[in-house]
Amino acid sequence: MRVKATYAAAVCVALAAIATLPAQQAQQVPQQYDLLLKGGHVIDPRNRISAVRDVAIANGKVAAVAARIDPAGAVKVVDVSGLYVTPGLVDIHVHVFAGTGERGSYAGDNSLYPDGFTLRNGVTTVADAGCAGWRNFEDFKERVIDRAKTRVLAFLNIVGNGMRGGKFEQDLADMEAKPTADMALRHKGVIVGVKTAHYAGPEWAPVERAVEAGTLASIPVMVDFGTNRPERPVSELVTKKLRPGDIYTHVYSGLRNEQDESGRVNPALLEGRKRGVIFDVGHGGGSFLWRIAVPAMKEGFVPDSISTDLHIGSMNSGMKDMLNVMDKFLAMGMSLDDVMLRSTWNPAREIGHEELGHLSPGAIADIGVFRVEKGSFGFVDMYGARLKGTQKLSAELTLRDGKVVYDLNGVTRPDWNTLPKDYRQTGDSRWDAVTPAPVRRPGGQ
Ligand SMILES: [Zn+2]
Repeated sequence: MRVKATYAAAVCVALAAIATLPAQQAQQVPQQYDLLLKGGHVIDPRNRISAVRDVAIANGKVAAVAARIDPAGAVKVVDVSGLYVTPGLVDIHVHVFAGTGERGSYAGDNSLYPDGFTLRNGVTTVADAGCAGWRNFEDFKERVIDRAKTRVLAFLNIVGNGMRGGKFEQDLADMEAKPTADMALRHKGVIVGVKTAHYAGPEWAPVERAVEAGTLASIPVMVDFGTNRPERPVSELVTKKLRPGDIYTHVYSGLRNEQDESGRVNPALLEGRKRGVIFDVGHGGGSFLWRIAVPAMKEGFVPDSISTDLHIGSMNSGMKDMLNVMDKFLAMGMSLDDVMLRSTWNPAREIGHEELGHLSPGAIADIGVFRVEKGSFGFVDMYGARLKGTQKLSAELTLRDGKVVYDLNGVTRPDWNTLPKDYRQTGDSRWDAVTPAPVRRPGGQ
């Protein structure tokens, strides 16, 4: 049965009750927006918004954010009241160079394919933290970066072979600034920084060459400071060796004198922060301790960015996923707005992707929709110590480039028994990347 409605009638009906309109009538209305998220609490720290707002999306971009946006102008309207709507999360420390088959290697079996851990947590962008160096980056790009639904960026390891294990990562001869910078410039925007990690020796060379490469390519350096060596103390790293904008990750590990003997934050870290050095969480399997983080947070030494250090050794440990790491900061008393700032706009800015991490009109519509669950929860650090909490984030809906890529409870979906007996795919490729049926033309089908 087909209903022929005049344009004016359709508009009137649509204004009254868009949600209940049969699809064919709704299509008579000119639709400016592909998707409208209605009634959620928007947290967009870059634009200083934390309030109930509607968010309209068109052509993969944020089209409008306002107190009330007319649902008649949208192909698809989703009620997200009671939920939080934020920019898609940006996790700048993950390990995702999977698929080579190399054992015991972060350019292989220690890494994970990203999509299984990202979209279901509201994460739309990750930066791989140095799994590949200039010798194997293009293999990584071909295997993972170009195939993932997640936006995958990368810090290029100063080691040409990347994180292939001890004998490679300790080889000073394979740490060359020039080829590293050249590769970074060849993949500008995808390679967002230079990584140095896991170095055990007393030399400063890995840090110095990473900084040299970062300077040549105009990108930041991320440091995992490896074995703690008195010849190269963290104080000198953050007050002298690193440039403003360079990133010290694993800040709450306590493994490299981040805390002094009195239990206070090493004053050098405060000085480093004044100089513009960035401090990142990088939780991982062995880089986050309550006895370091809790006193530091009480002292006001909060992280600039929250990140997971996701890999096979962390995914089922104290660290679970991005939301678990964010929950830990909620449990330590950080506000949800501040947690979101450190998981969206701050990390986006740190990696030079200022088009991400916010919901300004015209911005890429990477969006997370979250529920804050209340109850009794526990959060575990790297040595298996627990801190109890009462709040926990869960991801309801994730959009990448304006399209649904994850929908936990089917908030975008019709109930099955309201559909025709022989129903097929219910989506629409204008807003749906999960079950996208072709766009239905007005009067078509
Ligand atoms: Zn790591």
